[in-house]
Amino acid sequence: MFRLSHYIRELLQPTPLKPARKPKAPVVIWNLIRRCNLTCKHCYTTSADIDFPGELSLDEIYQVMDDLHDFQVPVLILSGGEPLLHPHIFAISKRAKSMGFYVALSSNGTLINTQNIERIAEIGYQYIGISLDGIGATHDQFRQKEGSFKAAMAGIRLCREHGIKAGVRFTLTQDNADDFQAILQLVEQEQIDKFYLSHLNYGGRGNRNRKDDAFFNMTREVMDLLFETGLRWEQQGLHKEIVTGNNDADAVYFLHWVHRKFPQQAQVMQQRLQQWGGNASGVNVANIDNLGHVHPDTFWWHYDLGNVKQRPFSEIWQDLSDPLIAGLKASPRPLKGRCSTCAWQAICNGNTRVRAEQVYGDPWQEDPGCYLTEAEISDL
Ligand code: SF4
Repeated sequence: MFRLSHYIRELLQPTPLKPARKPKAPVVIWNLIRRCNLTCKHCYTTSADIDFPGELSLDEIYQVMDDLHDFQVPVLILSGGEPLLHPHIFAISKRAKSMGFYVALSSNGTLINTQNIERIAEIGYQYIGISLDGIGATHDQFRQKEGSFKAAMAGIRLCREHGIKAGVRFTLTQDNADDFQAILQLVEQEQIDKFYLSHLNYGGRGNRNRKDDAFFNMTREVMDLLFETGLRWEQQGLHKEIVTGNNDADAVYFLHWVHRKFPQQAQVMQQRLQQWGGNASGVNVANIDNLGHVHPDTFWWHYDLGNVKQRPFSEIWQDLSDPLIAGLKASPRPLKGRCSTCAWQAICNGNTRVRAEQVYGDPWQEDPGCYLTEAEISDL
């Protein structure tokens, strides 16, 4: 996760470079339930509106939560499927909050309504992320349900009216890139707090739609627009949070942009980005799926590190006998191809390993989703 707005802020109001902090435990994205009321084209969980057998009981969820707490996991991102369809979502969320976790909800937004908004507000979620894949019909087509854009927007507005920090998550593909500018305008006009640009990844339904992945030039144009918009928002005092995910080459592309726009700050920005350190799958990010399997992130559902029903998460996470988790945690990672010779490994950390695995059958091959030119991976 690349916190673009944070670095733009550093360009406009630089703060002294502080020593890097190493988190004790990862952020955990927890797919509590696979059931969903939608069947989105790019869904990594391939969810459906049915009950999936073998999901964790409430007791099991609480046991896992206790272990995560003792292990000092700082953040729980409750996801699905659609987490609001979980019969105990409010009890789980309440307990998580009372234990001191930062608790976020990752929702499609369509089930947030006037009947449940008070209960949602009472929980005190630190953040609710709602996915939008475009404006109006584009979104409905992706979500394969008419009216879902309207319902998601109503959910976002309700959150805003009830003082809940809400944001838009937009997964970029070739089919919705034309809506990107309009999405940014929507975020501005609707006074939405946060914007998350997610690059398409090759997991779940996203894997089958690989041919729809945004072309590199289009990705570059989108990133240019995002940098310029982020700069403008910050200069205008809008202070929105902008993050990008699933393509850590974004940080390197940003550094090249800084070099052109703020050349006097490029060197210190390079240091800041190196401190951040790029891709964190299997290191500072973890995933527990609806059946209790642990994965390095949400796009590794085909790769099981262990199950929290049999072994505590804290044990599974620290067990380096698994070659994938050992490689992900290695520094530097055992990268191959252009990633192995890239000048910016220390910033990007080899990007998204699942894409290499899906395309080359080798998780250490170069990331086929890197949109940087040979010159851009050589040097400034
Ligand atoms: S070549 Fe690899 S390490 Fe370098 S920026 Fe691209 S994805 Fe990252």
